Amino acid sequence: MTNTSGTASNNLDAFWMPFTANRQFKANPRMLVSAKGMHYTNAEGGKVLDGTAGLWCVNAGHSPDRIVKAVSEQIAEMDYAPAFQMGHPKVFELAARISAMLPNGLDHVFFTNSGSESVDTALKIALAYHRAKGDGTRTRLIGRERGYHGVGFGGISVGGIVANRKTFGTLLTGVDHMPHTHLPEKNAFSRGIPEHGGDLADELERIVTLHDASTIAAVIVEPVAGSTGVILPPKGYLQRLRDICDKHGILLIFDEVITGFGRLGASFATEYFGVKPDMITMAKGLTSGTIPMGGVICSKEIYDTFMNGPENMIELFHGYTYSGHPVAAAAGLATLDVYKEEGLFERANDLAGYWEDAVHSLKGAPHVIDLRNLGLIGAIELEPIPGKPTARAFEAFLKCYEKGVLIRTTGDIIALSPPLIIEKEHIDQIFDTIRTVLGEIA
Ligand code: PMP
Repeated sequence: MTNTSGTASNNLDAFWMPFTANRQFKANPRMLVSAKGMHYTNAEGGKVLDGTAGLWCVNAGHSPDRIVKAVSEQIAEMDYAPAFQMGHPKVFELAARISAMLPNGLDHVFFTNSGSESVDTALKIALAYHRAKGDGTRTRLIGRERGYHGVGFGGISVGGIVANRKTFGTLLTGVDHMPHTHLPEKNAFSRGIPEHGGDLADELERIVTLHDASTIAAVIVEPVAGSTGVILPPKGYLQRLRDICDKHGILLIFDEVITGFGRLGASFATEYFGVKPDMITMAKGLTSGTIPMGGVICSKEIYDTFMNGPENMIELFHGYTYSGHPVAAAAGLATLDVYKEEGLFERANDLAGYWEDAVHSLKGAPHVIDLRNLGLIGAIELEPIPGKPTARAFEAFLKCYEKGVLIRTTGDIIALSPPLIIEKEHIDQIFDTIRTVLGEIA
């Protein structure tokens, strides 16, 4: 018998939705059918203000004409080119332009299709780099509790979210986790960078002492952890990690899948914090979410180490069919044009103060136990309902959606990250809606 699942527009069975309570969704579907600028339109014809830039990715706002045109033209001109042993000009140009946005020494870009692939690529490059230098005992990887690094086996191994880890059996071995830096008892309601907890970086020193530096390849952290509810690096923390890595010959990887491309009001978090890692993972804002693309930016030292091997040999046995896909590269170039011409990173920086005041205007609102912000990122932490974790924030999400504002929740935390084209009245609408909803929910 023919399987008719999915043939009718009202048949929701065939699609297994990611990171979604499928049965709950299918009983009460929320369908988005078009988008422009700051808004989605849903299947009922309602306008929904995007308070989350999709999933932290639509930094240039939805469907900018320039990106639409570049993508359409590229598909017509050349849909695909082999990624191995062949090239096309746009991907070289994109790599050069990204490298020009970064401090000297972060000069080489390896393209992937997602944040998860970027993380696994960076971890593999770290291991292969030490081997290429004759340091093959350096195999340990160090992540952090409450870190999110995507869903590849590498990413969930160094990641620190128990739900993403416990279901899947044996993960990568030889992985340690530093503590997270969320210290509500000391830092609750901090504006911007929290004062307390920079010394938590010294936990890395403890792990080095335990295993010996000669066994450790790399440390990976999100400069600002996003997906686990916006955890900010305390004052001095990232620099201290850098110092410890330098002291022990350990590579430092910043996972900038969220913080890259203007989210903090600077091109990357490395610029914002003035701390330079050895590798940066990126995705999302690279194409403003229009076409899947990610990448790893590597230091000159790492790249040169691989290039110093025998000539006419493949230096790194790694890559994807769609690494540097021409349509994604065209989207990336057009996205960088939009960021530059519309001054969106500066705009995010200019709006950050207004955004911070808006976030903290919720102090004293029902259920709110912490508020956090940096650049155009915000978090509203709610007191969980006893025995029903996540329920309160999810109810807020549903009610905000009914009122035409898209927010995102993770646990009992509302995380906000609007497109960088946001106007002040949109910011007011987001926080007025949340304030109203917090007054309505149980
Ligand atoms: N790293 C970080 C820091 C992320 O926030 C994400 C996605 N939220 C990823 C990796 C994974 O990206 P993707 O979903 O594109 O695989």
